[in-house]
Amino acid sequence: MIVEPKIRGFICLTAHPEGCKLNVQSQIDFIRSKPTIQTEKKRVLIIGASTGFGLASRIACAYGFNASTIGIIFEREPETAKTATAGWYNTVAFENFANESELYAKTINGDAFSDQIRSQTLDLIEKDFGQVDLVIYSLASPRRTNPKTGIIHKSVLKPIGESFSSKTLDTQNGKISEISLEQATSEEIADTIQVMGGEDWELWIDSLLKRNLLAKNATTISYSYVGPEITAKMYRNGTIGQAKNDLENSAKRISTKISSIGGKAFISVNKALVTQSSSAIPVMPLYITLLYKVMKESNLHEGCIEQIYRMLSEKNALTKSINCDEIGRIRMDDWELQSSIQSSIEDLWRIVDSENISSIGDLEGYRNEFLKLFGFGHSSIDYSIDVKIDVNIPSIWNSDSQG
Ligand code: NAD
Repeated sequence: MIVEPKIRGFICLTAHPEGCKLNVQSQIDFIRSKPTIQTEKKRVLIIGASTGFGLASRIACAYGFNASTIGIIFEREPETAKTATAGWYNTVAFENFANESELYAKTINGDAFSDQIRSQTLDLIEKDFGQVDLVIYSLASPRRTNPKTGIIHKSVLKPIGESFSSKTLDTQNGKISEISLEQATSEEIADTIQVMGGEDWELWIDSLLKRNLLAKNATTISYSYVGPEITAKMYRNGTIGQAKNDLENSAKRISTKISSIGGKAFISVNKALVTQSSSAIPVMPLYITLLYKVMKESNLHEGCIEQIYRMLSEKNALTKSINCDEIGRIRMDDWELQSSIQSSIEDLWRIVDSENISSIGDLEGYRNEFLKLFGFGHSSIDYSIDVKIDVNIPSIWNSDSQG
């Protein structure tokens, strides 16, 4: 089938298998070009392993220190005339590369919030690993069915306490307009915490601990975001920020629980990047467009794979003695939040409009990166020729199969 991008708002409905393969290949090449990460940890569970920071984490562990990886993903399979999602094709490519490199890699496709997927995963860990040394929790989802109550919670992206107006960018047509968002209700705040807060991470660790599947000195990492003043009303002080506070607090509770096996939980505060999730957050695409321009000009720009490699190597995220901030978080947003970077962005923010966004912001870079998330925009791929869309993840364990 000939596969072209079909963009609707902030998502692309199609994905190109060869382009996704190239994305995975280039992340593997990046890790291979770097010194090996020294660690005893070899058995890694990644929850949310198919795109963005989770995929980069899987690649960095596998190729940075020869880790065996089990990945949990929630992706659409290919159908007769419909492509799979990008995360599916990324995982096909990752597993094929891992198999060639004789690295263990298995994937479970299903809802990580469900008891069923959790117990399927624990069975697989018990059977193939015995125990895990590292759990990376990198889910980003718009909804969650709470396994205890059966209630479906939907997250919202809204300010708290007052309505909020800001410039916003439609990255497809390059138009900057004013967006107004009503303040969230207390129910919406609670729902967002249910989806993106720490309860589910804690449930995973509780279940692993209960079945004695966490190795001695096991660690676990989840990802957060802080961001600057410009995005604060929308992000850190908004509903999603409340969920991130909850996630960060759960790290402390998890650390206490796993201290019995010498374990520890960490939060890594990562940099703002174009991913499927961040493109859905109002105001963020405009901020990221300006951020990319300023960070690229300062030679400080990183993508997901560079961030995760630096986290695992320089920031020593695999040991317990990590350099953290005053509340115990690894700061991978250190370069993003440098005062020189932020003051340049503030200057640009004041003057940015539809006429100058392409010159003062990295709109082209944003669009290219967005297309690449779905396997498009690679100059080495001829998108006018047929490509096989019906490709399978070698190990796949769907929620209804028993592998
Ligand atoms: P992403 O959308 O690229 O990845 C989300 C992953 O979660 C995918 O692998 C997807 O398959 C999986 N997933 C979603 N729902 C699932 C479910 N129910 N069951 C199983 N898997 C499911 O997102 P991302 O931007 O890489 O975000 C990952 C984490 O990093 C989030 O916690 C996010 O807040 C955080 N973060 C993101 C940014 C950013 O700018 N993108 C910055 C800092 C922190």
